Amino acid sequence: MTASQGTGLDIVPFVDLTAQYPAIQGEVDAALRDVFERCDFILGRAVEAFEGAFARFIGVEHAVGVSNGLDALCLSLRGLSIGAGDEVILPANTYIATALAVSAVGARPVLVDCDPSTFEMDVAGIEAAINRRTRAIIPVHLAGQAADMRSVMDVAQRHEVVVIEDAAQAHGTQYEGVPVGGLGAVGCFSFYPGKNLGAYGDGGMITTHDAVLAARLRQLRNYGQQVKYEHVEKGVNARLDSMQAAILNVKLRHLPAWNQAREQHAQAYLDLLDGVGDIRFQSPVANSTHVYHLFMIVSDHRDALQAHLTAAGIQTGIHYPIPIHLQSAYQDLGYGPGDFPHTEYLARRMLSLPMFPELQEHQIKRVTTAIETFFI
Ligand SMILES: *Cc1c(COP(=O)(O)O)cnc(C)c1O
Repeated sequence: MTASQGTGLDIVPFVDLTAQYPAIQGEVDAALRDVFERCDFILGRAVEAFEGAFARFIGVEHAVGVSNGLDALCLSLRGLSIGAGDEVILPANTYIATALAVSAVGARPVLVDCDPSTFEMDVAGIEAAINRRTRAIIPVHLAGQAADMRSVMDVAQRHEVVVIEDAAQAHGTQYEGVPVGGLGAVGCFSFYPGKNLGAYGDGGMITTHDAVLAARLRQLRNYGQQVKYEHVEKGVNARLDSMQAAILNVKLRHLPAWNQAREQHAQAYLDLLDGVGDIRFQSPVANSTHVYHLFMIVSDHRDALQAHLTAAGIQTGIHYPIPIHLQSAYQDLGYGPGDFPHTEYLARRMLSLPMFPELQEHQIKRVTTAIETFFI
C-alpha cells in the first residue's frame, strides 16, 4: 500500500525538513534554552563549542564560524589577499555562489567545464586556464562527492596557486580517507537549512590548518578587530550566530548517521533504476566517498520526466538550470553558449530526485515506479 492510495495524493517532497525536528527536539530546545539563559548571542560559548567540534570532525586545527557559505568563500579569498587584478579558477558546473564570491572581492572568475561522467571540475581545463594572474583554484565537491583532488592539488602546487575548497555540499565526504575541507588551504562550508548539515537559518564555516590565516579570518568576520574598537583592517560583520551554532552543534552529532541514511537511499535508487529508460547516473570519483547532498539522474527526456513526476506528486530539483556563464549577471565575462559544452549538456538533462535522511522506502519506491511508468 503506497501513500498515494486513498483520498488525496501525498507529496513526496524533494527535501522534508519537518521530518527531522521531532527526532531531535529535546536536544535542540535544551541547547537553545542554554543560549537564552546566557544571552551570549554574538560569538558566544555555543559558537566556540561548535567551532571546536566542527574542526575535530573535519580533522583541522581551526574552524571559523561565519554567516553563510557565500561569506565563507568571500572571507577566505580576502584572508588570502586575493582581489582586484587576480584570477580565480572555478567550475562552470556549480551554484552561482562560488563565482559571486570571486566577483565580490574584485577578482575575475575563470570558468572551466566539468567532466561529463563525474560532473566534477575537469582538471585538464584548469591547466589550460592557468596564467600568471591566477591566484587560486576553487574545486567544488559537487552533490556530495569530492572533486578529483589529487589532480587539483598537483596542478595547484606546480603553478604555486592556493586551493580553496567549496565544500558546501560535502559535509563529511572523505577523499583518500581525509575529510574534504582539510585538503586545500581552506575549506568553505554552508549550513543553509537544506544542506547535509543545516542550521535553522543561515550559517557557514571556514576550516584550515593555518593558525595565522585563522586569526585573520576571525578578525575579518568581526569588523577587522581583535580588540574591541581597534580596527586593524576593513572587516565585515559576517559572524556565525550563537543560536545557529547551538543547533548545529546538536545536529553535528547526528550527521554521520544522516549521511549513512542518504547513502542507503542512493543505493536503493541505483538498484531500482538500473536499466530503466535512458537514465544515467553520476559516476564515482576515485578515492572519494559520497554523502549524497543531491541524487542526480541524467535523461534526454528530462523536462517531460520532471513534468510526469510533478503530476505524480513527486518533487524534484534541477542543479542547475542555467550555467553561470549563461546567467545575465555574468554577461560581462564574455562567455557564450557552447563555451562549456558538458556543463550545458547537463543543465538540459540533469534532474535531482528527492533526497533527505528521513526519506522512506515507500517514498523511494513511488519515485522509481513513477520513473519506470514514464519510460513504458
Ligand atoms: C549552498 C552553496 C553555497 C552557498 O552557501 P550559502 O550558505 O547559501 O551562502 C556555495 N557553494 C555551493 C556549491 C553551494 O551549494
